[in-house]
Amino acid sequence: MSATSTTPPPALHPYLSARHALLWAEADTFADEQVTPRIARMEAAPDRVECKLAELMGARGWFGVLVPAALGGLDAGHVARTVLVHRIACASASVAATLQATLIPVGAVLNFATDEQRQRWLPGVAEGSRLLSIAVTEPEAGGHIGGIETTATHTGNGWVLTGSKAHVGNSHLAAAHLVVARTAAVGTSTSTALTAFMVESDRPGLTLGDQRSGLGLHGFSAGRLELDQVRIPHDNVLGDVGQGLAVAQSSSILYGRPNLAAVSLGIHEAVVAATTERLKTRTRYGSTLAELPVLRDRVGGMESRLRAARILAYQAVHLLDEGVPCDAELINSKYLGHQLAVQTAQDAMELHGAHALDRGYLLQRLWRDIQHTYPPAGTGEVQRIRLADVAFDEARIQWSERLAPEAARAQPDPTTV
Ligand SMILES: Cc1cc2nc3c(=O)[nH]c(=O)nc-3n(C[C@H](O)[C@H](O)[C@H](O)COP(=O)(O)OP(=O)(O)OC[C@H]3O[C@@H](n4cnc5c(N)ncnc54)[C@H](O)[C@@H]3O)c2cc1C
Repeated sequence: MSATSTTPPPALHPYLSARHALLWAEADTFADEQVTPRIARMEAAPDRVECKLAELMGARGWFGVLVPAALGGLDAGHVARTVLVHRIACASASVAATLQATLIPVGAVLNFATDEQRQRWLPGVAEGSRLLSIAVTEPEAGGHIGGIETTATHTGNGWVLTGSKAHVGNSHLAAAHLVVARTAAVGTSTSTALTAFMVESDRPGLTLGDQRSGLGLHGFSAGRLELDQVRIPHDNVLGDVGQGLAVAQSSSILYGRPNLAAVSLGIHEAVVAATTERLKTRTRYGSTLAELPVLRDRVGGMESRLRAARILAYQAVHLLDEGVPCDAELINSKYLGHQLAVQTAQDAMELHGAHALDRGYLLQRLWRDIQHTYPPAGTGEVQRIRLADVAFDEARIQWSERLAPEAARAQPDPTTV
């Protein structure tokens, strides 16, 4: 499925500058020329990591979309990263997932690293030569971050890390992994028991599990890291010792959730486009399925959900660019963005009839891929727990406010489209 449009819809004009519109068109062209021609190959070899497209996105500076210009980045802000992830996801959620998976640890480095660490990690990201990953999840600890068993033990001049990480986005592409590990005894409060470390992928003792295909997102690497007595210097601690929960949580809310909202949105658009195209061309008694009121009713519901998801995704990152407290909007955009797209994808499977079940049919890839935006950056249950806290006025931390100087680093060009 190629990108559906090179012109942002009018409803997004309040959020988009001229620079955003240029990025939109650039991403659509890239999707048409580079991504779409490779999709069949990616689907045919689901165990293979798609490296070439990461290299091509890197050459365009897109992994550095949030990185300050002084460090070689585009310094384009949060709406800009949503534009890139969303437009790429219209063509391939897998490629969009690759882009977004590095933007999460980049956000953590921006918010928690020292100046020296930023100089060390970010120029390589900006030029696309050194991607990052974030490794929080473990085989026995996903949503339950307090269950992290990977340990980091302080030695004379550094740390020794041992444990396993699972479902690490860009595991096979990253030159360094942001690993969250336990630095205090079991029983210590999670808010002080964890610490974040930057672990270079060539450190002795660090091994990668084999790339194994999942239900969807073929070509995206989300594999395992095994850490066996991996030694790293103290300079690789990100943030303060004991601040690992803050690093993981803030990165998930400020970067992971809006990124996943953008991936869901791209899939959602592709599903609606494929369905209207199908109904317009499927003939029935001299007319087409698009003429049937009962089917138009369902398409109307799909279009309604798509429009709602689009506004949720862009409004949230616009507020982030503006420095406005918006954790709840970021959470909701991820939560509802996925929910709405899943419902649309299920409707679409039914509207495409038996053809939807034929091997290799486009809609299957979209339906499989949308299942992958539920678990990362907080499952639906996690999002509803956070939103209930907001409803009861019990939310303890507003990361978009606490990290506002960084979140508002790149104010968008005020010139609107
Ligand atoms: C495409 C993709 C990319 C990913 N990328 C990364 C990455 O880059 N880095 C990384 O570290 N991880 C990544 N993950 C892992 C992701 O963060 C976890 O899958 C997620 O945290 C959920 O953990 P789990 O899968 O172990 O599910 P579990 O934690 O086992 O949860 C299973 C179910 O129980 C529910 N549940 C669990 N605890 C509670 C609770 N206390 N209250 C209510 N319900 C609960 C969950 O909502 C879920 O429905 C990725 C996953 C996917 C699919």
